Amino acid sequence: MARTILLLPGDGIGPEVISEAEKILAVFNQDFDLDVQVESADIGGAAYEKDGNPLPEEVLAAAKESSAILLGAVGGPQWETLERHLRPEAALLKLRAELDLFSNLRPAILFSQLADSSSLKPELVRDLDIMIVRELTGGIYFGQPRGVETRGGERVGFNTLVYSESEISRIAHSAFKIAQARKKRLCSVDKANVLEVSGLWRDVVESVATAYPDIELSHMYVDNAAMQLIRAPKQFDVIVTGNMFGDILSDCAAMLTGSIGMLPSASLNESAQGLYEPVHGSAPDIAGHGRANPLAAILSLSMMLRYSLAESDLADRLDQAVGHVLDSGLRTADIAWDNQYCTTAQMGDAVIEQLRTNLNDVKEI
Ligand code: NAD
Repeated sequence: MARTILLLPGDGIGPEVISEAEKILAVFNQDFDLDVQVESADIGGAAYEKDGNPLPEEVLAAAKESSAILLGAVGGPQWETLERHLRPEAALLKLRAELDLFSNLRPAILFSQLADSSSLKPELVRDLDIMIVRELTGGIYFGQPRGVETRGGERVGFNTLVYSESEISRIAHSAFKIAQARKKRLCSVDKANVLEVSGLWRDVVESVATAYPDIELSHMYVDNAAMQLIRAPKQFDVIVTGNMFGDILSDCAAMLTGSIGMLPSASLNESAQGLYEPVHGSAPDIAGHGRANPLAAILSLSMMLRYSLAESDLADRLDQAVGHVLDSGLRTADIAWDNQYCTTAQMGDAVIEQLRTNLNDVKEI
């Protein structure tokens, strides 16, 4: 039976960048024997406008049935005043929770062609390739009790940072497996010098490590990790950490690469079903002008091929095609040095042309 991919373009530039990824999926089906069935549905503001619900029940059901989901972005100023549960972002949170997508993979890869776009010196970041594995469904963003209440005549706000052994163990297994497919180095980031929950985190990660003797495990406090990411980022290969620390560190690492338009992400559950999405938002300021960089969405598709569809060969081909297009000097506005830039669709077409050229080269050999 053909595997099903659900496309959720969403709002703003979401549909523009997902349409480029969809063209590439069609080429993989046509010329590379991928054999996936592709379906599309609305999510976020687009779904709210049609159904009064940012994540309609039938879309959630289709997401649960699919092998993988490719999402563009959700949100926009017109929906910011809605009640919280009706806002586009609520759809994303619900999707993550319903599919139990606990393992968030955020690569920070710097294509050497873009080394000058980073805020750090080129020699510190050239060929940077870090993978941050962030626990996504637990920790302080979900812990109870939480709230704001009046105590002793003033308002007090509180949240709870809580992790169970099983939550730590499953994210640790996920990270060790990813480290096995890379340079076999894993750094676990916590705040064990201050927080009891981090002490438990460290204990559990240590015990999971015994199942992965081929992996070199280290530990680092989160404040030091933030400093080291800026000082010498290439010392890291895979980093595993909790929800809030991962939220902050992954944005920090991502910015080392210079452009938000280049950054993909994946969120996986225990059966490797995944939600793949660019790190950027719906960019209402450039939506509808053909100025969006589609490479984050295209590289998210590459992660989908690698982690949910077990098609590493196609993922490698796609990554290489993106590299070759950058080598050729083609740039969307966000990564261009000057006023010479291409449209969203021209960038997508160039990646397709490169995929086909490489395929023909292989056939001729
Ligand atoms: P944003 O990522 O949408 O935009 C930040 C800046 O980066 C803007 O100047 C934008 O033009 C630029 N940019 C973003 N993606 C780009 C691309 N592919 N190519 C070229 N330039 C790009 O962040 P924001 O402005 O803070 O948020 C806008 C909306 O997106 C808000 O409603 C927010 O809630 C939503 N949002 C959604 C997600 C998501 O769907 N996962 C993530 C972040 C923000």
